Amino acid sequence: MASKHIIVIGAGAVGLSSARAALLRGHRVTVIEQGSIPHSRSASFDQHRLIRYQYGRSPGYTLMVSQAFDAWERLWQDLDAQHFHRTGTLGISLAEGDYASTSGATMAQVGIEHQWLDAAGIEALCPHLQMPAHARGLYSSTGGVLFADRIVIGLAAWCRAHGAKLLANTQVQSVDTEAGRVHTTAEMLEGDQIVIAAGAWLPGLLPAYSELRIARQAVCYVQAPEQHRAHWANGPCITDLGEGANYALMPVQGTGLKFGSGQHRRLGSPADGFAGPPEEGYDVIRYFAPYLRDAEAYRSQRMQVGYYVLDSSDAFRVEPQGKALVVTNCGGGMFKFSALMGERVIACLDHELTPAQLQHWAAGKLPVTTPELS
Ligand SMILES: Cc1cc2nc3c(=O)[nH]c(=O)nc-3n(C[C@H](O)[C@H](O)[C@H](O)COP(=O)(O)OP(=O)(O)OC[C@H]3O[C@@H](n4cnc5c(N)ncnc54)[C@H](O)[C@@H]3O)c2cc1C
Repeated sequence: MASKHIIVIGAGAVGLSSARAALLRGHRVTVIEQGSIPHSRSASFDQHRLIRYQYGRSPGYTLMVSQAFDAWERLWQDLDAQHFHRTGTLGISLAEGDYASTSGATMAQVGIEHQWLDAAGIEALCPHLQMPAHARGLYSSTGGVLFADRIVIGLAAWCRAHGAKLLANTQVQSVDTEAGRVHTTAEMLEGDQIVIAAGAWLPGLLPAYSELRIARQAVCYVQAPEQHRAHWANGPCITDLGEGANYALMPVQGTGLKFGSGQHRRLGSPADGFAGPPEEGYDVIRYFAPYLRDAEAYRSQRMQVGYYVLDSSDAFRVEPQGKALVVTNCGGGMFKFSALMGERVIACLDHELTPAQLQHWAAGKLPVTTPELS
């Protein structure tokens, strides 16, 4: 295949993964990023992100997680470092038909390893939790923590070392997707193809996306009481606890214990800023409190604020626009798929799958992999 010049807009996990995939295929790559590379304000930059199989009723996304694990393995080989810590994951089901219960049914349907625990089994695994008698725990030994900041730092260094031109502190002001022209604050660049992975900033870049809904998600770094710290550090990541998508990431390999809640998400925009006072953290902790032993002793240490596009479809969107592919609606779940997404996006630009196939798969509708791709 002839080498092309591929311009990538945005140096988050999706943009950098696309850049790596393009370099591996022998293309010339330019990455343009408005902030530093990586950018601490991007949705991809934080100590950790969760990878887990629990995907409710969606067999497509559940199976994509297996594909994602394979893609991470390929990245660890390239980086010569494994930025993943396997903790196992535990989702708590409190009612038939809730997210953990439907996730378990889907995992059974598509053959993903898991086991169910009763309330006593959950408390034996997680002595820091207290469970109502009817609680059931969906345990999977496979998931865990992706060290997000280490991954994007490693990816940027790998791309630079493999010949990519990384333009930091360079904002793209407009894109002519038909001509393949990108206008930055400094110059005009011409590419054979363009990957647009601009995260929450996409509405300001492409008029066709100006109406997208942006969500502010603030997560809380938490100090657990002394007597429970080792239990958290050695326990599984929590994927669902109580109503409204409450999850916890473990303090492993120097990271902090982090609580997040789908109930603590609201509409916003990066222009609103990234401040989140520690007091805000107690709004997050209170969703966990009914299930925490010694809940009153938990302290909010700091908030981490991020923004992403999330529309009501809750499905990733990858859309052709002239010579560009736009990756959007990444929501609160793309990090785990980003290495894989980069590979698929570039495979599509190289005509190994059609944009329609890519869209279908990214929307979680394609349960099986295409034969020519791993
Ligand atoms: C608090 C929080 C918790 C999350 N938890 C998880 C989780 O546990 N598991 C999981 O899988 N996912 C999780 N996610 C989601 C995941 O992190 C994101 O979906 C993913 O990181 C998005 O990556 P991206 O590359 O598309 O966007 P980003 O990482 O936001 O990158 C976009 C980049 O484009 C740059 N850019 C934008 N416009 C321009 C322009 N005009 N010119 C130049 N550069 C530009 C930006 O500066 C930015 O660096 C979470 C997200 C948040 C915010």
